[in-house]
Amino acid sequence: MASKSDRMNAVVKTKRQLGAEIVNVNRPRITDREVLVQVEVASVCGTDVHIWDWNEWAQRRMKKIPVIFGHEVAGTVIEVGKSVTSVRIGDRVSAETHIVDNTCYQCKTDRKHVCKNMEILGVDRDGVFAEQFALPEENAWINDPHLDLSVASIQEPLGNAVQAVLPKDHVEDLAGKNVAVLGAGPIGLMAIAVCKELGADKVFATAGGFNKVRMELAKRMGADVVLSAKEEGNRLVKTIVDATNGNGVDVALEMSGDPNALRQAFEMLTPGGRISLLGIFEKPFELDLNNALIFRSATVYGITGRRMFETWYQVRGLLAKPDFREKIAAIITHKLPMRDIGKALDLINSKQAGKVVLEPKW
Ligand SMILES: [Zn+2]
Ligand SMILES: [Zn+2]
Repeated sequence: MASKSDRMNAVVKTKRQLGAEIVNVNRPRITDREVLVQVEVASVCGTDVHIWDWNEWAQRRMKKIPVIFGHEVAGTVIEVGKSVTSVRIGDRVSAETHIVDNTCYQCKTDRKHVCKNMEILGVDRDGVFAEQFALPEENAWINDPHLDLSVASIQEPLGNAVQAVLPKDHVEDLAGKNVAVLGAGPIGLMAIAVCKELGADKVFATAGGFNKVRMELAKRMGADVVLSAKEEGNRLVKTIVDATNGNGVDVALEMSGDPNALRQAFEMLTPGGRISLLGIFEKPFELDLNNALIFRSATVYGITGRRMFETWYQVRGLLAKPDFREKIAAIITHKLPMRDIGKALDLINSKQAGKVVLEPKW
């Protein structure tokens, strides 16, 4: 239960520069349509790394400073607003981090995840690297109370992976299909597990350097072939095309944000295939669209967020399977106390970690 004090610990981005501070702040006040959540486990996302590092993206994107950052979470509801009807005190919840207005053109045409007036938890408003946080009722996803809290905390990025694999309803399924996943960061790894669970034939995974940790994890997720993009170099496309009887892959998932990987993703795609782009590119670059996309008749999906809330139901269904759940749990390589947030960020920047989760120990 909430402590009697009106104050709590939080990781706050206090200045427009590298790093953040642990600060004693006021506990959040909820509105009638919000719930107050006690944080049990939070997970660190690439976005948090950008905010901590204060890279160009963060400098441009972050309007509200000071802000409590962090958005991937599992927690328990300890207070509900007057008008809340679907969430109760004691519910175990995770957060859909896109907070939408429900009134704009996108929201009214079944595309809430790209709401024009969207606020993102831990970016535009106070997030979850804190003892407690406020969340609109609509954004509280009620978890199975038996779901491991660390796994529950990474459902949001798992949703990104699921959306990359199944970008919409009625997209052709993966049973018997060949898939390439380019990039073996946490969401790439999750995507491998999702593809295998959905019956993909061969899954080819590529990792950037000679990243042993990530390549091992890619195997653990069920990738049939794991390749080092660095080692393969220009041979990478041929290696994968040869392994698919010369056809190329049916589906490619670009998870790295590396322009070269994107070019290779198109080159290894069978004509008429589909590709999902999730990796964020640092800056604009040149791409031969004629050959990459047009003459290949490729279908391209830009992936951001999760479909609200179809993707969450898909995630729930997948996590109900013990084998799949164990795989996803294996992506979590480190559990640290919240006070070691700096260490957590260093671990992620070293690329020697899968997912790093934080416990509310201050
Ligand atoms: Zn995230
Ligand atoms: Zn909207």
